[in-house]
Amino acid sequence: MGLPAVLLFGIPKAKDEKASSAYASNGVVQDAVRQIKQCAPGLTVISDVCLCEYMSHGHCGVARIDGEHFDILNDESVELIAKTAVSHAQAGADFVAPSDMMDGRIGAVRAALDDAGFDQTGIISYAAKFASAFYGPFREAAESPPQFGDRSSYQMDPANADEALHEVELDLAEGADIVLVKPALPYLDILWRVRERFGRPTAVYHVSVEYALIKDATEKGMLDERAAVLEIMTSLKRAGADFIITYWGRELIQWLRG
Ligand SMILES: [Zn+2]
Repeated sequence: MGLPAVLLFGIPKAKDEKASSAYASNGVVQDAVRQIKQCAPGLTVISDVCLCEYMSHGHCGVARIDGEHFDILNDESVELIAKTAVSHAQAGADFVAPSDMMDGRIGAVRAALDDAGFDQTGIISYAAKFASAFYGPFREAAESPPQFGDRSSYQMDPANADEALHEVELDLAEGADIVLVKPALPYLDILWRVRERFGRPTAVYHVSVEYALIKDATEKGMLDERAAVLEIMTSLKRAGADFIITYWGRELIQWLRG
């Protein structure tokens, strides 16, 4: 159809407290990357790199649990995230996309990829990923809602724009090739500021509830899906997006071709 790229998320058969199947060479994402590269060598393959789908507790990192209280251990998590990124590159991923928001993970992933000979593998960083109410259906599909607590200790406060810009700056300094803002419509100001301030390739992720809202409104006869989606996508481009991650990829290609 002419789709330029796909972003893969994995749902493993087994989960544990070390996310073992995230970095297994025969893991679900690793297998999928190899198969896609075989049948569509020209398609850019981006792999989501996170531990939550592979962890029995559903958090994005290694957790230390103490009764009611839990900590996400940053450095232990970053080590496994870097290991996962290398295993995706070995399978043939063109870009890895760390989505966890742990500190220092972009630098660690860059170093691990370079050490393993994958200096041509790019990094898309979820640099400005907000703790948002708009992720629900995705989390259900990815079987990754946390079993306890929430992700507010490592995702960003929606009220804090300066922190988002700071995180983007750090990720670019650590070697991110593309920075990502997520969700999309409630954060157009962030997208605009990131693109204006840093002038670097910037992506935006239009997330599952944003998609579902339009689908629901379409079903209820409240709007014309094609017109609404084209208006949304135009607003994302206008706000500075170089790349848009969307669930409407296939439809958009048809609509834009007329
Ligand atoms: Zn995660």
